[in-house]
Amino acid sequence: MGNLLAFGPIVKLRGIHHITAIASDPQRNVDFYTQILGLRLAKRTVNFDDPSTYHLYFGDRTGRPGTAITFFAWPGARRGTRGTGQVISASFAIPASSVEYWKARFAEHRVFCEEIPSRFNAPGLRFTDADGLLLELIESTQLDDVDLEYESDMPQKFAIHGFHAPTLEVQQTGPTEELLKTLGFELVGEEKSRRRLSVNSKSTSAQVDLVERAEGQFGVNSAGTVHHIAFRCANDKEQSRWRKELVDLGLHVTPVIDRFYFHSIYFREPGGILFEIATEGPGFTVDEPVKQLGESLKLPPQYEQHRPEIERTLPPILIEAKMKTAG
Ligand code: ZN
Repeated sequence: MGNLLAFGPIVKLRGIHHITAIASDPQRNVDFYTQILGLRLAKRTVNFDDPSTYHLYFGDRTGRPGTAITFFAWPGARRGTRGTGQVISASFAIPASSVEYWKARFAEHRVFCEEIPSRFNAPGLRFTDADGLLLELIESTQLDDVDLEYESDMPQKFAIHGFHAPTLEVQQTGPTEELLKTLGFELVGEEKSRRRLSVNSKSTSAQVDLVERAEGQFGVNSAGTVHHIAFRCANDKEQSRWRKELVDLGLHVTPVIDRFYFHSIYFREPGGILFEIATEGPGFTVDEPVKQLGESLKLPPQYEQHRPEIERTLPPILIEAKMKTAG
């Protein structure tokens, strides 16, 4: 059978897979993202490159790609600095007319927030997590389809619906924009120094905002900063085509790394931001049932034999018991 696809134009990336940032105290991290932001702890595992530390994933019920913000939790880590060559804000989509609800919720939890001057005509809020990571909630009339059927006190009509065009800051947008276009992104909007690029204008998690700061200082990666942004592709075959394409462009791309819940390649884009391309699957339900996601420590097969030492090293994490389902 002829395989036209194999020779045709390369498929576009599908949007954001996850964003990974650095936290210090794991308990504080879990409390903030589950109790205040109302996300689900969808996976509790270790950093595969350093199994003595946690890797925590938050998202919708199954932590599906496009909803997952993840953290390397390094107890005692000093604060990093936000700057160019980084994703400087991880932004989430919230339903239209929910800013007022969120303002009240933040006030109740004593989280300082401020309104963002309207961005592409959408209101939003900006605030930081316990480690100083800059986060935003942006109202959107078009929301990604997410699964909110998990225990939380967050009313579903105000809940976070995955990412919303996170901000990538670079000294020069040209080369980064060119690379994003190679990956299938198109320029869909411009507002001052902000350029919005999209692989799917119907999905808020399929967009990124590129901001140029020619005089910007490079950020320092530690607690409170984003480590990398991952985009998603359908499967291993697409991933290996992307890898070849990127290597042909002269980029240094890692081999495919098995992250157990997905397969990944990593490279630094010309503006200095660490990019990852991850496969959609197999996903977080590969080693535990949906109902129990995040409840216990899951280890990839290569570390299972070291479970006793690993568990002794990791600080315990308690999941707040007083959550209730709200209507
Ligand atoms: Zn990643």
